[in-house]
Amino acid sequence: MRLSRYFLPILKETPSDAQIASHRLMLRAGMIRQASAGIYSWLPLGYKVLRRIEQIVHEEQQRAGHIPLLMPTIQSADLWRESGRYDDYGQEMLRIRDRHDRDMLYGPTNEELITDIFRSHVQSYKDLPLTLYHIQWKFRDEVRPRFGVMRGREFLMKDGYNFDLTKEDALHSYNRHLVSYLRTYERMGLQAIPMRADSGPIGGDDTHEFLVLADTGESEVFYDSQITDLKFGDRAIDYDSHDACRAVLEEFTSRYARTDETHDEAEFAKVPEERRRTARGIEVGQIFYFGTKYSEPMGATVLGPDGTRSPVHMGSHGIGVSRLVGALIEANHDDKGIIWPEEVAPFQIGIVNLKQGDTDADAACEGLYQGLKSRGLDPLYDDREERAGAKFATMDLVGCPWRITVGPRGLKNGVVELTSRRTGESEEMSPEAALDRCAQIFAGV
Ligand code: ATP
Ligand code: MG
Repeated sequence: MRLSRYFLPILKETPSDAQIASHRLMLRAGMIRQASAGIYSWLPLGYKVLRRIEQIVHEEQQRAGHIPLLMPTIQSADLWRESGRYDDYGQEMLRIRDRHDRDMLYGPTNEELITDIFRSHVQSYKDLPLTLYHIQWKFRDEVRPRFGVMRGREFLMKDGYNFDLTKEDALHSYNRHLVSYLRTYERMGLQAIPMRADSGPIGGDDTHEFLVLADTGESEVFYDSQITDLKFGDRAIDYDSHDACRAVLEEFTSRYARTDETHDEAEFAKVPEERRRTARGIEVGQIFYFGTKYSEPMGATVLGPDGTRSPVHMGSHGIGVSRLVGALIEANHDDKGIIWPEEVAPFQIGIVNLKQGDTDADAACEGLYQGLKSRGLDPLYDDREERAGAKFATMDLVGCPWRITVGPRGLKNGVVELTSRRTGESEEMSPEAALDRCAQIFAGV
């Protein structure tokens, strides 16, 4: 993308009402614009990041064998009356009445709708196991929407639902989700720690939240520091293997890690003192096993191998896709701006032309721009007539992980400069070498 033709409405002033870094930076970098309290338009730069995150979530869900579909945002209240949640959900639910005086609502989650789809089409254990998911906008009329996209009223969530014949199979689905979530967050360059949690209005026996440690997180967390050494990495895992998935769950959940809702001082005291940590965290996902909580009242039963019908065992599993944009920035920024992990960067490489209008500089930039694109990369070329300082400041704010700086002086010696946004380290090399290096850096991404 050529910056002169892009829509990147950068703010000069730091917005005074934004309390945390990610909110400030998203506004300053022209990623979002508030439409009304807790509701945002995603401007082109923000939208690109959101799409990158969605893409990773889709890939990892499908790798685990989960099937994408798309349910609507507006739901009928009748389904929620069947489960009993229409009254229970309270003020957070945005209730709508249509022209025929029917009660509708903007979905805060989708257990009822997916259970209705399931009961209409699945009758036999032979069609199980089944996990369906979508990535769709949700609305929760939060008491205090704040911190930008971190706690919005309208937000994008991946929510998935597993259907299994037995509790044992459903717990395997739970474990499989835990594994796939570990992979998903790590691919984004984030460490999200599974912590024992409380089940809240979704209800359930077994639940873990995934938390990214950050001072600005809304949850208080207590954990054994050993847990931060665990990495899932790129292990090959058979998602159908109950044992393999259970082993990963045990590895990642055997050490003490809880949010304030389930924190137990006596248990925590058993962790050696030097490893006890209290910190804050951002909840970026949660998995639940809740058995027959919805299938029973809604009559979602299947015929088992013994010829009897029984309610299907379910769980639901969410990833806060739009909140992740904020969480990623909280974990990756400095006072100059955002530092995107390579996997989610809106543009991977920034090209700064120090002397727009200079024949050699323009030609070299053009060559790099085309060369990067032909290597499948997505560069942002600052081709504006601006001072070098302003161009650097824009690139630092927007957070491209790599920058190529091109100027007449370097070109006289046949070199451009490749700079890492994260380390600030620069290296001079020929334009061709810079192209190869960039292709190499992003080969595995
Ligand atoms: P919270 O405790 O933060 O209110 P929750 O536990 O009610 O969240 P879930 O029902 O578990 O949320 O939803 C799954 C994921 O959706 C959460 O882990 C979070 O990442 C994200 N999420 C929930 N509420 C919001 C919100 N208001 N704005 C942005 N993301 C949200
Ligand atoms: Mg939650």
